[in-house]
Amino acid sequence: MRWSKTFIPTLRENPAEAETVSHQLMLRAGLMRKLASGLYTYLPLGWRFIRKVEQIIREEMDRAGAIEVMMPMLHPLELWEHSGRAKVMGPEMMRLHDRNARGFVLGPTHEEIITALAAGEIRSYKQLPINFYQIANKFRDEIRPRFGVMRAREFIMKDAYSFDADDTGANKSYQMMFDAYKRIFNRCGLTTVAVEADTGAMGGSFSHEFMVPAEIGEDRMAVCSQCGYAANLEKAESALMENEWDTHLFDIAKKTTYQEVDTPNMRSIEDVSRFLNVQPKQLVKTLIYLADTQVIAALIRGDHQINESKLKKAVGCETLTLATPETIESVTQAPVGFAGPVGLTAVPIIADPAVMAMPSMITGGNKIDTHLLNVIPNRDFKPAKIADIRVVTQGDRCVNCQGTLTVSYGIEVGHCFKLGTKYSEAFHATYLDAEGKENLLIMGCYGIGVTRTAAAIIECNNDKDGIIFPWSVAPYQIYLMAVNPSNSELVQLAEKFYIVLRDAGFEVIYDDRNERPGVKFKDADLLGFPIRVIIGDKNIKQGLIEVTERRTKQTRLVQKNPETLISAIKQYGV
Ligand code: ATP
Ligand code: MG
Repeated sequence: MRWSKTFIPTLRENPAEAETVSHQLMLRAGLMRKLASGLYTYLPLGWRFIRKVEQIIREEMDRAGAIEVMMPMLHPLELWEHSGRAKVMGPEMMRLHDRNARGFVLGPTHEEIITALAAGEIRSYKQLPINFYQIANKFRDEIRPRFGVMRAREFIMKDAYSFDADDTGANKSYQMMFDAYKRIFNRCGLTTVAVEADTGAMGGSFSHEFMVPAEIGEDRMAVCSQCGYAANLEKAESALMENEWDTHLFDIAKKTTYQEVDTPNMRSIEDVSRFLNVQPKQLVKTLIYLADTQVIAALIRGDHQINESKLKKAVGCETLTLATPETIESVTQAPVGFAGPVGLTAVPIIADPAVMAMPSMITGGNKIDTHLLNVIPNRDFKPAKIADIRVVTQGDRCVNCQGTLTVSYGIEVGHCFKLGTKYSEAFHATYLDAEGKENLLIMGCYGIGVTRTAAAIIECNNDKDGIIFPWSVAPYQIYLMAVNPSNSELVQLAEKFYIVLRDAGFEVIYDDRNERPGVKFKDADLLGFPIRVIIGDKNIKQGLIEVTERRTKQTRLVQKNPETLISAIKQYGV
């Protein structure tokens, strides 16, 4: 491709609206432009890049035995009402009406659509297993679209759906997708960590997210370097610290009953711990929640954070919100800030194991301006349930091996779910087995954010001068330029090598613009083509051409004959 014949509107400055490196570079390098919040047009080079990512995904999906289809992006609302997800998805799902006032949605994902298809088309075990995938646009009215295409409102996703006759088969299908994902991200030049994840609105029995470690990632994960345990913080568990409390503290605690202490207007953990001159870890937070329609109390240690995803799971509810001050007052008989478990019989108490392991604790007194000292678990209150409901923190012990957990940020680029029969039940998607008996199809679903993956590639592959495209996804692999466009000998050579390199199978962008070399070099760096071939006045007099690798900026001079040039390019390990 000649630069002058395509469209690469590079920018000198970083657009002010772009907070992350990938967002800045995708705009500055002219890969895309914003239409409105969370909506982007991909320009020619950006689109080539995305198509390459798609192609890698397509090849690996095909290799894993999945078959490509294309489903409508516009769905009848009825299907979503049928599965109950019209409510679960809430305002994130874009809704509209046709001319007859029938409800439709712009598909945020396709479980309902594919399951309805399977219910109509799959009859026999002989058709199983089967795995359908598509690469298509998805729509989600995100609360906060951000970071360019990382969290957009219209984005490209690869979504696959497997159907199996039994659980063993479904697990095998899952594993095949899991392995394909590893290959896909590797081929895209990305390092990923597969973490155990919460199944959330998708439902189902287990799931893994593929995370690209990055500071700007919106997800947090806990990873054990010793045994490899890795989980999204929404789900991550940790073991209790051993010997955290001196044993004599337990003996001292048992000797005294709990006592009231005045804590005038001291409502937060910080206030109370300062006022009583104790550490936050000696206190217990009592949080009052509305779980669906039931009010509950959750207990965690003062220095810990509540994990609402885990609490939701422990309670088995669909919605979970902090109770209003009125509810808190009516349940605890005290204003907000003084709730505690002692005498709190009106609601079930869910306590974190770290609370139950305390020798004694300081809690709210269910009375204004009052806390209780020396409260002992199981003596002074009995929880309805003990469950791990806290957020794992850096340095916690691993549940598997007692190793040390590290908490870091990640970009979720893919997600595998074992769905089980949630959707096949809803849509009565069944098959007849060899005995002629009807069974539910066992499902899995597998998503990759194609455009988010593209952004993650740039987020992880750049330097101060611009993008550093991995060879596998570069919009063009080789950048070719004659330094002085008014020197016809140079231009002729550049034209010749343009053909030579293309004929050798490389994707070449030939910068034929009549611009200063400085501007061109800057653009070549910004766009991050893996190899730069420069034909310059001085070198050519000695019969030499300059070949530079973008990643290392390492330059070699090679003889100007085609074979030498091609083999020099190949030596960069591409
Ligand atoms: P997130 O937690 O980031 O909102 P999700 O759990 O809603 O993601 P899934 O429903 O599992 O995402 O979708 C599959 C994949 O689609 C994700 O792994 C992610 O790569 C991508 N994705 C999801 N939402 C967006 C978005 N708004 N913009 C771009 N890509 C997205
Ligand atoms: Mg989401």
